[in-house]
Amino acid sequence: MQICILDILEQTMADGPGFRTAIYCAGCEHHCPGCHNPQSWDRKNGHWVDVQEILDVIKADEMSNVSFSGGDPLYQVEAFTELARRIKEETGKTIWCWTGFTYEEILADERLSMILPYLDVIVDGPFKMELRDTQLLFRGSSNQRIIYLHGEQPDDSIPGTVPIVGIK
Ligand code: SF4
Repeated sequence: MQICILDILEQTMADGPGFRTAIYCAGCEHHCPGCHNPQSWDRKNGHWVDVQEILDVIKADEMSNVSFSGGDPLYQVEAFTELARRIKEETGKTIWCWTGFTYEEILADERLSMILPYLDVIVDGPFKMELRDTQLLFRGSSNQRIIYLHGEQPDDSIPGTVPIVGIK
């Protein structure tokens, strides 16, 4: 199975707490006005990489946790689910995932929700220019929420540094 990616950023500190390996995928149909990365909308700007190859990069860095961003990973939900499942089975790493879908939209869609058991955190919802707030950590606009999917903060969250929205 392959994922169309723009880039893999190693040891970034911009995509969630602590050091992370960030997988930036290509492809997003939300087309939010003011999007920080409009070149990510078109898959033609990306290239296809095997899940195994991405996993090898992730596993080579023992220290970093993992982030899925883009683009919107949920437009490639089958392949990202396979990657997330293997990360969870083969490493102790946490996974944060940014998506333009809301949590409620994901829950209501059987296909999109297949990835949820393997993620620790989603940052959900489209970017909304009228709600843009540069003070927010890891989010562009205040409608977007940091959601701990399994009820508790994962080990890589640092109390006091990550805003928590209380949806479990
Ligand atoms: S969901 Fe994210 S990547 Fe997609 S258009 Fe909106 S801000 Fe851009």
